[in-house]
Amino acid sequence: MSPLLEFDNVTLSFGGLVAVDRLSFTVENGEVFAIVGPNGAGKSTAFNLISRFYDPVEGKIRLAGDDLVQHPSHDLAGLGVARTFQNIELFDQATVLENLLIGRHRFRKSNLLTEIAFTPFVRDQERQHRHAVEEVIDFLDLQPYREKRIAGLPYGVRKVVELGRALATKPRLLLLDEPASGLSVEETRDMAYWIEDIKKQMGITVLMVEHDMHLVSSVSDRVLAMADGHKLALGTPDEVQSHPAVLEAYLGA
Ligand code: ADP
Ligand code: MG
Repeated sequence: MSPLLEFDNVTLSFGGLVAVDRLSFTVENGEVFAIVGPNGAGKSTAFNLISRFYDPVEGKIRLAGDDLVQHPSHDLAGLGVARTFQNIELFDQATVLENLLIGRHRFRKSNLLTEIAFTPFVRDQERQHRHAVEEVIDFLDLQPYREKRIAGLPYGVRKVVELGRALATKPRLLLLDEPASGLSVEETRDMAYWIEDIKKQMGITVLMVEHDMHLVSSVSDRVLAMADGHKLALGTPDEVQSHPAVLEAYLGA
């Protein structure tokens, strides 16, 4: 069986700067895979390549064996990929419930005409949206905040809502951009529980970029350490943390 995601010798440069340099790795179905590395390593660029903000200048990115560039760049959700952003992107004046519904609706497959006609097909879709959103609200314990506006919520709760917005699209691959950034120690521990539950209970494959090595070690099956666009080490959290190249990059030895 094909890996869920495959980077095959991928290169992307911005002018003279090689942001991602002949990078190869695979993410297997059902695993939590973390990308770590110092600032400027190319982590966000790798995410942006998967999100189709850029296409590789060389190499291939495959999703379940399919070349990603063959798919339209606006159809990421159609491919089963969802992402969160490091800087939370929610509608501040809308409620938690509304934000999750908007997250779903952005990806609906009907056109205006079928919506006006309000066919049974659309009604059924509507029910599915509601159901998926209510499931996520229950799953992430967001019930107490359901009707609350985002603007009034603590940062830690907004971060969980952002996670929920991505989950509500029922992805097979969930991309998390620094899920612990800005969170307290307790909130980070809660985030670790959510990530484990997302993997174990929902069966969703998770690819994350994260600085908090404690979170990375506690939830990741495998870790890719990058620097200057290329791979330093790939393996279990323990293997990567004790790898000489990684120690050198982090300690500047
Ligand atoms: P990381 O997320 O690991 O901190 P990035 O992927 O954001 O690193 O960046 C990798 C390198 O590519 C950096 O040197 C950064 O300045 C450069 N870079 C990223 N995006 C762009 C862009 N749109 N234009 C020019 N340079 C960029
Ligand atoms: Mg970054």
